[in-house]
Amino acid sequence: MEIEKYDVVRLTETFPVIKELIQLTETCWMNPNKQSFQLHKQKMPLTEQDVKDAESRLDRFAPYLQNVFPETKETKGIIESPLIAIPTMKSRLESRFSQQIEGELLLKCDHDLPISGSIKARGGIYEILKYAEDLAIKHNMLSFEDDYRKFDSEKFRLFFQQYTIAVGSTGNLGLNIGIISAKLGFQVTVHMSADAKQWKKDLLRSKGVTVIEYTDDYSKAVEEGRKQSSLDPMCYFVDDENSKHLFLGYAVSAIRLKKQLAAMKVKVDKNHPLFVYLPCGVGGGPGGVAFGLKLMYGDDVRCFFAEPTHAPCMLLGLATNLHDKISVQDIGLDNITEADGLAVGRPSGFVGQVIGPVLEGSYTISDDEMHRLLAELADSEGIELEPSALAGMMGPVMTNRQLSRQTLEHATHIVWATGGSMVPLAIKKEYYEKGKLALRSFYNAT
Ligand SMILES: *Cc1c(COP(=O)(O)O)cnc(C)c1O
Repeated sequence: MEIEKYDVVRLTETFPVIKELIQLTETCWMNPNKQSFQLHKQKMPLTEQDVKDAESRLDRFAPYLQNVFPETKETKGIIESPLIAIPTMKSRLESRFSQQIEGELLLKCDHDLPISGSIKARGGIYEILKYAEDLAIKHNMLSFEDDYRKFDSEKFRLFFQQYTIAVGSTGNLGLNIGIISAKLGFQVTVHMSADAKQWKKDLLRSKGVTVIEYTDDYSKAVEEGRKQSSLDPMCYFVDDENSKHLFLGYAVSAIRLKKQLAAMKVKVDKNHPLFVYLPCGVGGGPGGVAFGLKLMYGDDVRCFFAEPTHAPCMLLGLATNLHDKISVQDIGLDNITEADGLAVGRPSGFVGQVIGPVLEGSYTISDDEMHRLLAELADSEGIELEPSALAGMMGPVMTNRQLSRQTLEHATHIVWATGGSMVPLAIKKEYYEKGKLALRSFYNAT
């Protein structure tokens, strides 16, 4: 369904936030219809058991992963990232925005996830492992009790070689699917949108992955990938817009985060709310994490999505309740952003409907601001991220502007750093320089 021009005018009257989206101003949408998780849970198509099953599957594969990816040796084949305090960055934010931030500021370091240095190492790798396990079980090559190191064998690789995995991606998902699929022996085709960075395509090709490039955006790459895959019965398409497996892979993070918070003696309860800020592209990553967190903490956790001002697809879908029936192009936006992981014009309808009702809100952030935060995080904490991963960093400033001091007094804020450690040095430097420049113009303007 296309939204016509005159509809946009009417929509804007009903949902004034659209006007701010069209003007590319940074804005925050607070969910006016937020439901209690206990109520909403009964209507959800996925359960806590599904997340636990996903966790067990990752446990079964841990010995295999430890074998084939030596960087996971330390965590015994569990793909997990640290949770750390970033007090110096907190002071920076407070001083630049002249805004006190109540509560502690933590960073979830998914940019440091082994294998591919982005949050996609959760969902993407999980979905391929699930598919490989299903195939092996179906062909009587495996039972759940086996030692999964048997996946690292000529027999398994030859078997998987008959199958092709395909995926549409702006870069990071393709990178993950490509790396794990090639390791297992699958043939892989990645359909890449125009936003995908050259180094990501080069890296994939070096691993024997077929990369098909499109001059169009992410939605088109997914659509084409889906279409081509449907013609090949031996091809499995990882559907980023609708996949429950990806979603569950992301959700497992919450079980582990809960343990990390407990180990750090961080309290989460009614009087100690947990605020989590998640960069959002199509929605699977942040949606899956938010779902897992809601299962762990119910209404004591408050989740916000963050998107570029040029690509606020989830905010638009949620605010209008039109989900994937509307795109940012429909309201005249270009979906062009340096935050390649978030360059998505049309959100996942599945995610919006599953997690939307229990989200606290969603906000937008400009490319310049992401770069400023990137440079500030590098300077203050020595942590280097890719621009997408900074979208969450405005969250604590924003909630402290919007909510009462009383609400936030005993709060903990977690900014989810979604990617960055694989970015080549020269490009990291470019991002940083751009951030420094944007900081200078920020200070000159104020
Ligand atoms: C993909 C990605 C996201 C967002 O995940 P979605 O599932 O697309 O919403 C955020 N940050 C980075 C770095 C990503 O690669």
